[in-house]
Amino acid sequence: MKVEQIAVGELYANAFIVYQEESNKAFVVDPGADFEKIKERLKARGIGEVTHILLTHGHFDHIGAAAALKQETGAKICIHERDLPMLKSGRHNLAVFSGFSIPECEADIILKGGETIAAADMDVAVLHTPGHSGGSVCYLCGDALFAGDTLFYMSVGRTDFPGSDSAEYRHTLDTVLRGIRRDYDVYTGHGIRTTLYAEFKSNPFLNGTI
Ligand SMILES: [Zn+2]
Ligand SMILES: [Zn+2]
Repeated sequence: MKVEQIAVGELYANAFIVYQEESNKAFVVDPGADFEKIKERLKARGIGEVTHILLTHGHFDHIGAAAALKQETGAKICIHERDLPMLKSGRHNLAVFSGFSIPECEADIILKGGETIAAADMDVAVLHTPGHSGGSVCYLCGDALFAGDTLFYMSVGRTDFPGSDSAEYRHTLDTVLRGIRRDYDVYTGHGIRTTLYAEFKSNPFLNGTI
């Protein structure tokens, strides 16, 4: 499995193109902006079909190019039910507070957490990890965990947004993430890649306990 990371938009959110080398299908995690850049990369990698657009949550910096990518490829947009209003409202997805405007889009698959999606012929498990937003999820595929803004290199996401919840976040970090195996590579929503092992060992928000 190959994962290509592309920093997009003014907040440098990470979009990911995920594909198998021998296949011409991919899924895309968080096409937050810069549709043309994502399109070019897909073309450069010989990707002819994007089956799914997997959104880790509904904030504008993670969903901004979803409408254009869906229109171009016919990919199915997946988002957790609690972040669904963010696809249609600049107030909910916080764009208006940052002076941005992004196109609305329609969800095709509404997630609850606990399901598995067959995307680009790969199994992707959905883990509901609320806290940064109510509908934040992590996607698990092979050795990769796509964390969105739930987990960063030695840090975690903000909890001062409307819809954020510190108590839920605590449960996500202490119980939900702690409950999965440690050998995942963590592809974060902003910044560099890390591993779950390194985070449980040294991330102060995870109490430095492995
Ligand atoms: Zn966010
Ligand atoms: Zn973000």
